[in-house]
Amino acid sequence: MVEKVIDETEKHLKMLKELGVNQLSREKTDPVYARKLRALKQLRRELGDCQRCPLSQTRTKIVFGEGDPCARIVFVGEAPGEKEDESGKPFVGSAGRILTDIIERGMKIPRSSVYICNVIKCRPPKNRDPRPEEIQACQPFLEKQLKIIQPEVIIALGKYASQWLLNTNLAISQLRGRWGEYQGIPVMPTYHPAYLLHNQKGKREVWQDIKKVINYLKQRSSK
Ligand code: URA
Repeated sequence: MVEKVIDETEKHLKMLKELGVNQLSREKTDPVYARKLRALKQLRRELGDCQRCPLSQTRTKIVFGEGDPCARIVFVGEAPGEKEDESGKPFVGSAGRILTDIIERGMKIPRSSVYICNVIKCRPPKNRDPRPEEIQACQPFLEKQLKIIQPEVIIALGKYASQWLLNTNLAISQLRGRWGEYQGIPVMPTYHPAYLLHNQKGKREVWQDIKKVINYLKQRSSK
């Protein structure tokens, strides 16, 4: 029975190759990936042209989040800045360059293999801090993103993400580097990449936190 399926699949692939199809998209070959991708697209449609809080009046684009729907790691930041507001993509400005370095040069994985999103999806005017009512209005969408992706680890970037995920008012300096939990998912709080722009000591501390995540994931993979 199994041999027959393999045989048929091989024939099918050979036929596709003859037709010039050299690569099958993950969406078509991995049912879990396809399901999660569909669910995220549906959630994005539900968000629509969101008017749930006053930030809708001043934003340019909603920054929903991006990355692999099957990511093992989700990074949660604070809120879009100017470049993110213009492009609709998370972490593409100066803090984004630092985050990309952490992922690609530090963790040695492609940025496209993780998922990146924020506590709120619209830029606050002049990058002011997010307000409680804005966080509350956006909350159901972040909750659903995390429920769909079900990552193995969440890395909380900065005070707002850490406090929201861990449901605490403790300062980021007290939270960073210590494992917490969000809905059964391990959370590693660390400093926001923007804080690292002019802070060498902060960089070393973030790297210590990231190494804990790397080791945790390595241990899980080897089981
Ligand atoms: N800072 C954030 O917290 N998120 C972004 O997407 C960009 C900068």
